[in-house]
Amino acid sequence: MIRRISKQQQKGSASKRQTTMKQQQNGDMDNDLHELFLDEIADITNAERQLTKALPKMAKAAESDELRQAFESHLEETEEQISRLEQAAQSLDESIKSKTCKAMKGLIEEAEEMMKEQKGTSALDAALIAAAQKVEHYEIATYGTLIAWAEQMGHSDAAGYFRTNLDEEKAADEKLTTVAESIANEKAEAGKGQ
Ligand code: ZN
Ligand code: FE
Ligand code: FE
Ligand code: FE
Repeated sequence: MIRRISKQQQKGSASKRQTTMKQQQNGDMDNDLHELFLDEIADITNAERQLTKALPKMAKAAESDELRQAFESHLEETEEQISRLEQAAQSLDESIKSKTCKAMKGLIEEAEEMMKEQKGTSALDAALIAAAQKVEHYEIATYGTLIAWAEQMGHSDAAGYFRTNLDEEKAADEKLTTVAESIANEKAEAGKGQ
């Protein structure tokens, strides 16, 4: 964004004008980044809200008890994450804007498509895990960015809330890897017995 220099600034001495321009540029950068930061908070909040609707469906579809439980416990965490995002906004004296996260909409649509295609096959849980891990990685990327921006702008309370959410997303991703391995091992064991 380019702003015009005011008449008053133009009248100032060359060195003073430079200082003023620099300050104004820094000010623009702060405001622009802060706006982007608020948009991103709105985006991830909507993404988390979409997940509170998708996770129960994924839990219901899961064949393995371990996978179903992983989805159910991540649903509870997701609800907590939304309240942490609200607390983060409060710490900034801001309210969360309404926005649709198109990326999460797409990831969930793809998950639903995979569920339909794999229904009744032995690869259904593998498909659910693949879709869920894509979701976790999207969230990990977003919280990583939010933490960096919050720290850059000195919003340390908000950064703390994002960090807690990030840690849960990373743990959820790792849990899915563990569940995938245990399902694969069970299938291999069952195969040996035949
Ligand atoms: Zn800011
Ligand atoms: Fe989440
Ligand atoms: Fe998004
Ligand atoms: Fe998650």
